[in-house]
Amino acid sequence: MAQYDYDLFTIGAGSGGVRASRMSASFGARVAVAEERYLGGTCVNVGCIPKKLLVYAAHYGEDFADAAGFGWTVEDPRLDWTKLIANKDKEIKRLNGVYRTILGDSGVKILDGHAEILDPHTVTLDGKKMTAKYILVAVGGWPVVPKLPGSEHAITSNEAFYLASLPKRVIIVGGGYIGVEFAGIFHGLGAHTIQLYRGKSFLRGFDDDIRTTLAAEMLKRGIDLRFEADIRRIDKDGEILHATLTDGSVVESEQILYATGRLPKTDNLGLENAGVGLSEIGAVVVDEYSQSNVESIYAIGDCTDRMMLTPVAIAEGMAVANMLFNNKPTRPRYLNVPTAVFSAPNCGTVGLTEAEARERNFKVDIYRTFYKPLRHTLTGRDERTMMKLVVDQTTDKVLGCHMVGPDAGEIVQGLAIALNCGATKTQFDATIGIHPTAAEEFVTMRSKVA
Ligand SMILES: Cc1cc2nc3c(=O)[nH]c(=O)nc-3n(C[C@H](O)[C@H](O)[C@H](O)COP(=O)(O)OP(=O)(O)OC[C@H]3O[C@@H](n4cnc5c(N)ncnc54)[C@H](O)[C@@H]3O)c2cc1C
Repeated sequence: MAQYDYDLFTIGAGSGGVRASRMSASFGARVAVAEERYLGGTCVNVGCIPKKLLVYAAHYGEDFADAAGFGWTVEDPRLDWTKLIANKDKEIKRLNGVYRTILGDSGVKILDGHAEILDPHTVTLDGKKMTAKYILVAVGGWPVVPKLPGSEHAITSNEAFYLASLPKRVIIVGGGYIGVEFAGIFHGLGAHTIQLYRGKSFLRGFDDDIRTTLAAEMLKRGIDLRFEADIRRIDKDGEILHATLTDGSVVESEQILYATGRLPKTDNLGLENAGVGLSEIGAVVVDEYSQSNVESIYAIGDCTDRMMLTPVAIAEGMAVANMLFNNKPTRPRYLNVPTAVFSAPNCGTVGLTEAEARERNFKVDIYRTFYKPLRHTLTGRDERTMMKLVVDQTTDKVLGCHMVGPDAGEIVQGLAIALNCGATKTQFDATIGIHPTAAEEFVTMRSKVA
């Protein structure tokens, strides 16, 4: 008889947990996954997918306006927010079902409810104890709203996806990618949008040319973007929120969305019962193989505070499954992880920023282009695309590619492969472009700007 009820007990059926569970089952492991809220986790329910659907919705506003330049007459376009949210919810429900099916078909036992760890091999769910050879913590993260007077009136991205109506005016606090994306969404859908960020420039960690170009483009579009600005207190008067800013001014809005960060969701999980080491912010401390300080307990995804991205959580989940049940110890690669910001316009980035390359003592050549996209020659929209290459002078290797402009994420995904293959600037230059596209600019930049 088996010593444990399961070979693997996964806590959390989000991006990482689902992949690890499915793969482990496919390698012959007996797997259970506990999920307390929604199958598919943050990405499917209140993250990437609904966010991107709202980004698409927001783009229509501009597209209707731009169509006139191409001879179209579009009369009185109006948004039905309730319909948009209902359609989005329908799609998410469908995806929840898809996840239930693929987990079930893989032979993974789905347990609905809140799981807690009792000891290195025991988990409890709704009072039922179960044992497992390995426990995988894949509980994700949760948004945090800073404590300030009236902050209980604010919402986070979680609630933004389910608002009963589109706010006429919205204030977004925070300068990370989620805040920037929601600024584009609300503005594009027609809300008067203010974005506040307490620092000098948002999107910390992105290349400075992305940060400055995107800020300029957002301002041009009409988003009221304010740096070195924050909220001191919030007062509610009926349906209206009065935000007192750090400069003493008071701004009214129907909603205030805090996108000021997410923390690992490791409370009420019993990690302390097993002696699992946590970082200062409550992230499970793991090694390169996602193993915690307790031999039988692994952790992946947002709860480990490495790179909070769905494909990274998935890669970590695959690696754990490969190691535990496929005899293939695998360390996920964190080099050249491409990422996009679905802002208005989009940003895409892979590899080192110019600042990072210089900090690491690379001697770099910088190639950069700003141009008006072909489409806007007829729309008349004053929008610029920015593309940039950071190149190592010594080896000629392209260290980083950065872009602000339509489809930046789609374009940079392909470039990430080139960077992972160690492509040089000479090889970029030897590649024939596809004309006329934006992407071809990445293989036709000839003049160094620095
Ligand atoms: C608004 C927003 C937009 C985003 N956009 C993108 C994007 O465009 N691209 C991208 O790559 N990433 C994006 N992300 C990040 C991405 O969603 C996360 O990195 C990813 O979901 C992390 O996966 P995970 O498996 O670690 O955790 P999650 O997907 O969060 O899953 C954790 C699961 O564990 C469950 N759980 C927690 N505790 C317990 C418990 N005790 N018992 C049972 N179940 C439990 C939770 O209910 C949840 O379902 C976005 C995130 C947000 C919030």
